[in-house]
Amino acid sequence: MNEYDSDRIRNALEAQTTDNPEKADIIIVNTCAIRDKADQKAFSSLGKYKHLKRDNPDLIVGISGCVAQLYGDKLLHKMPHLDFVLGPRAIPRLPDLIKKIENGKHRAVETSYDVQELFDIEPYHAEGKVTAFVSVQQGCNKRCSYCIVPRVRGDEVNRPLGDILREAKSLVDKGVREVTFIGQTVNSWKENGYKFGDLLRAAADVDNLERIRFTTSYPRDITAKMIEAVKDVPKISRHIHLPVQSGSNAVLGKMKRTYTREWYSDIVKRLRDAAPGMAISTDIIVGYPGETERDFMDTMSLLEEIEFESAFSFKFSPRPGTPAAARPSDETVEDSEASRRLSLLQAFQRDVTTKKNRARVGYIEEVLAEGISKNDPEILTGRTSHNRITHFKGSAALSGKMLKVRITEGLFNSLRGELSV
Ligand code: SAM
Repeated sequence: MNEYDSDRIRNALEAQTTDNPEKADIIIVNTCAIRDKADQKAFSSLGKYKHLKRDNPDLIVGISGCVAQLYGDKLLHKMPHLDFVLGPRAIPRLPDLIKKIENGKHRAVETSYDVQELFDIEPYHAEGKVTAFVSVQQGCNKRCSYCIVPRVRGDEVNRPLGDILREAKSLVDKGVREVTFIGQTVNSWKENGYKFGDLLRAAADVDNLERIRFTTSYPRDITAKMIEAVKDVPKISRHIHLPVQSGSNAVLGKMKRTYTREWYSDIVKRLRDAAPGMAISTDIIVGYPGETERDFMDTMSLLEEIEFESAFSFKFSPRPGTPAAARPSDETVEDSEASRRLSLLQAFQRDVTTKKNRARVGYIEEVLAEGISKNDPEILTGRTSHNRITHFKGSAALSGKMLKVRITEGLFNSLRGELSV
């Protein structure tokens, strides 16, 4: 989501980017507030530009994204070298904000949630790129007890179907072959009587669009209609990112995730029945307040039962203003204990992911070639429908093509293979 917003910021300003901050006219630190570490990182990045501003008073330094929304004008007091604070919904207002700063030399805060032109700024798209994100939804209507997203990104707003399809078509005209629909709970998308399953089917009708991905799905919003679309339409990727967060019903209840472990397992079964071999990835939080050893073992047993293709796992991080951050201190799971649980879980998942990748050896996979590998000019990189990164020998001219690749090796993070004729 942040990568997407950074590309929108670039387009909003019609600016060129530079890797050298000393050459920049404007420096914007785009931030994430999901965990405490991410927001600390934002402050330390901003600190690095203090001396540049001292040497060049015309330089404009700003902070955007969720940390900007969370702390608002407090950031201007905290950091005298900062010129502006811009919330994630206000990106379309950035050009005006910059003009105001240039004209009046005064500092500015724009953190309104009420931005009508929310979807007006589409992201910068680099020439030759084969894949692209398309935003279908902003904000979130769920109220998970640990999560700061609804506070910093506001309530859910869904983008009209026609706009989404127009953007997808224009990307295809620029050479894109795969789009990823993004939204905080992307499958809760609905508009004018259309539901997410309808959106997937409509996108599948876009000529020359070879593959459709979407992220992040909310388990409770998986509908029979969506499963049917996945089943019927081969262009829809055989991968779903479906955060479960915990395998313990007690913890899921406290997190206000609105489903049980059994309900989640049943959804996974229905998805795998509809699309055999469907890859499922997930997010897990360990050390949620009050999480016992037994709760943690329930999470481990869920990992064993489902055998996720991959899992992103995090230690619980209290976020300001969330109900989870206000839990009594005797429920806090010690950091050393949370770290132990995280290491156990990650070691277990590492073995499962590697085993699943190795199981692909000998199969011929359809790989959408995305371009030449950063490390080796003779190697092409792409992904399978199941979202497995695959490296194989080939030339840049094959970029953007859907290719048959025989898998020769399965590693933790990727597959290796050779072009099959
Ligand atoms: N909106 C998506 C959802 O509901 O699944 C994704 C939200 S977030 C960007 C990605 C992941 O960060 C979550 O799925 C969760 O595992 C993790 N996360 C969110 N808040 C957290 C917190 N306070 N502490 C630790 N991890 C957190």
